Amino acid sequence: METSTDPVEVLSRVFGHPGFRGRQEEVVRHVAGGGSGLVLMPTGGGKSLCFQVPALCREGVGVVVSPLIALMEDQVAALRQQGVAAAALHSDLPEGEARNVLRDLHHGDLKLLYVSPERLTLEGMLGRLEELPIALFAVDEAHCVSQWGHHFRPEYRGLGVLSERFPRTPRLALTATADQRTVEDIRRQLGLQEDPVFRGGFDRPNIRIEAVPREQERAQLRALLREEAGKGGAGIVYCGTRNKTEQTAEWLRGDGVDALAFHAGMDSEAKRDAHRRFARGDSVVMCATIAFGMGIDRPDVRWVAHLDLPKSPESWYQEIGRGGRDGLPARALLLYGAGDIALARHRIEESPAAPEQKRIERQRLEAMVAIAEAATCRRQILLRCFGEDDIPPCGNCDVCLSPPKLFDGTVAAQKMLSAVLRTGRRFGVAHVVDVLRGRMTEKVAQFAHDRLPTFGVGKDLSDLAWRGVARQLVARGALDVAVENHGELVPMEAARPILKGEEKVLLREDVLRAGTAPAGGSR
Ligand code: ADP
Ligand code: ZN
Repeated sequence: METSTDPVEVLSRVFGHPGFRGRQEEVVRHVAGGGSGLVLMPTGGGKSLCFQVPALCREGVGVVVSPLIALMEDQVAALRQQGVAAAALHSDLPEGEARNVLRDLHHGDLKLLYVSPERLTLEGMLGRLEELPIALFAVDEAHCVSQWGHHFRPEYRGLGVLSERFPRTPRLALTATADQRTVEDIRRQLGLQEDPVFRGGFDRPNIRIEAVPREQERAQLRALLREEAGKGGAGIVYCGTRNKTEQTAEWLRGDGVDALAFHAGMDSEAKRDAHRRFARGDSVVMCATIAFGMGIDRPDVRWVAHLDLPKSPESWYQEIGRGGRDGLPARALLLYGAGDIALARHRIEESPAAPEQKRIERQRLEAMVAIAEAATCRRQILLRCFGEDDIPPCGNCDVCLSPPKLFDGTVAAQKMLSAVLRTGRRFGVAHVVDVLRGRMTEKVAQFAHDRLPTFGVGKDLSDLAWRGVARQLVARGALDVAVENHGELVPMEAARPILKGEEKVLLREDVLRAGTAPAGGSR
């Protein structure tokens, strides 16, 4: 193959694209000129060309580290179709084929070699590469090197040797999921501290983002489907558990929707089948756990719904980023509830992870809760997590489109907290609300809770509204839900300043209004 050192010429001749997008050209010129760095671009942002083009502009083979065999195979197949000499080397490759790849590598017949991290860091492999001209090293999905992410792969840790063994070869790390801490971690691990970070295009303005308290999950999902009906394309429903993916898909099918399920517990045949049907179906809906993701290349995913709270803004962003890759309007709907938040907190506390890791996960979860409970533009809060600080309100999230009215809910919060305290921290939200509303239930009678001073002080708000107050108190950490027991509400440290009247509680009115009791009651 003739070589050219002009990136734009390579882009058009080999890949058939008339021009670069976003920061691609800057990255490509930097690397083609021998520079190293870190690329932060969202999924669909065009990261592949950032290393493929400079590899073709430079002498030698471009070595690409990739964590997933399926991903490698896809890219290699696509490159070969474009006439680029590419191959993959990983543990699933039959020995004979691996030998052929190594032979081609030594003959200088390869322009791009995809390799798994554990394979690359074998001493024998590094030794071989030292004898060859290497155009560059690309570390794809570079967040796998960081323990900050939940995609940490121990094999990635070994990649630190590249900067030592190949100090003069350009190294380009690429990722779509990186908050500031992950970025610093990647740079440290891969020896890129002195090199530039190319950050761009995280905003996906065509995705309208909405977060709504969960009321009736299925009715809410059905409403979304109805609004999106007739638009074709595909939709994704992310569920918190494997069971739920199957149940939701089955329920949707009963509703006449072409729905599939996908989770890590399925065998590879079933997974492949689901992938294939999702890729082709018209108005197909995939109900999946987060295991469904890497390798989705469908540009017309019109909506992504989360029935359960994602672990972090990074994962949420990555998952909703699978919508609207064609640039046309797409939607992201997040349903959340106090139970989710509490459950996620407890999972973290009970996990065997190290204290430092737990602290990280706690922070990420709180950041996610802050987005769900946002009283200001959700996209601003989300993008701030990726270091994009100076973004104006987006105009395409539910908060921007219909700003929530905030009201001073301090008194309501105090009533709720004192009802929790006076009932002895032993009851779930249903009973506490009964007490607040002054309802003479069997349980109220049994515990003589009608004699409490808080009995009936909350007649001005409906049950739903009180649940909203509870949820917002859980969200701000003033209450906890004992999920491992019977969902008892437990006051936390943050409740104290609220009870003492030292801290105001601004509540989102719309969350409560849905259930406000009919007017006319005493105020
Ligand atoms: P990422 O790895 O960042 O998720 P990809 O590299 O897979 O993204 O690119 C996403 C899509 O955008 C691909 O279909 C790719 O062909 C297309 N693409 C990327 N850069 C360009 C460009 N400069 N011109 C046209 N299409 C592009
Ligand atoms: Zn907004």
